[in-house]
Amino acid sequence: MIDPGHGGRDPGAIGISGLHEKDVTLDIARRLASNLAARPGIDAKLTRDSDVFIPLNERVQISRKARADMFISIHADSAPNRDARGLSVYTLSDKATDKFSKALADRENEGDLRGSIVVPTVDKAVGAILFDLEARHARNTAQHVRSHFVQSIGHKWPLLDNPMRAANFVVLRAPDVPSMLSETGFLSNPHDEKILRIPAEREKIARLMAKSLTAILESSLFG
Ligand code: ZN
Repeated sequence: MIDPGHGGRDPGAIGISGLHEKDVTLDIARRLASNLAARPGIDAKLTRDSDVFIPLNERVQISRKARADMFISIHADSAPNRDARGLSVYTLSDKATDKFSKALADRENEGDLRGSIVVPTVDKAVGAILFDLEARHARNTAQHVRSHFVQSIGHKWPLLDNPMRAANFVVLRAPDVPSMLSETGFLSNPHDEKILRIPAEREKIARLMAKSLTAILESSLFG
């Protein structure tokens, strides 16, 4: 499940030259989906395929309902530090990697503060334990996916310092779907904005992501 960040009344970050994050994320997500669709055995779906607003929790529900093997949210936010640039990938954690990561997740979550998942109430004790085990498994898988993903993209695309990060993003809270969020770059950085404006560069990152995700989906992690 590919999730293009933002949309509709929520433009996301706005670049120095006026580029809207919601348009960049949708375009990269579509390119990623079509690259993945060319691979046998992979069924790529989008949480949104037009310029619409979808609350964060609803994105999580779309992914769970589809019983997705993997969820990736695509972003290109702005960073408080204009020099910050390059790709980074986040998995879910109550404890953020650093202040920068926490601030980023807080800003992303502002759009929808009602977004936490409720523990099923069938049998409170048993339900909570199963929920916890399942959530831990999904989180571990997501962390493995994150390292494979960042390593395979390697030096073919600019990377942020310490590109493997964690923070408490609402959109990553599915207990049963390994979920990650990729910042493809920062629209607050002139170099990144310049790259992300060019269709050929968006195609390049979409292809790199598709290649990496295909290898991960075909690996023993998902066997
Ligand atoms: Zn964003």
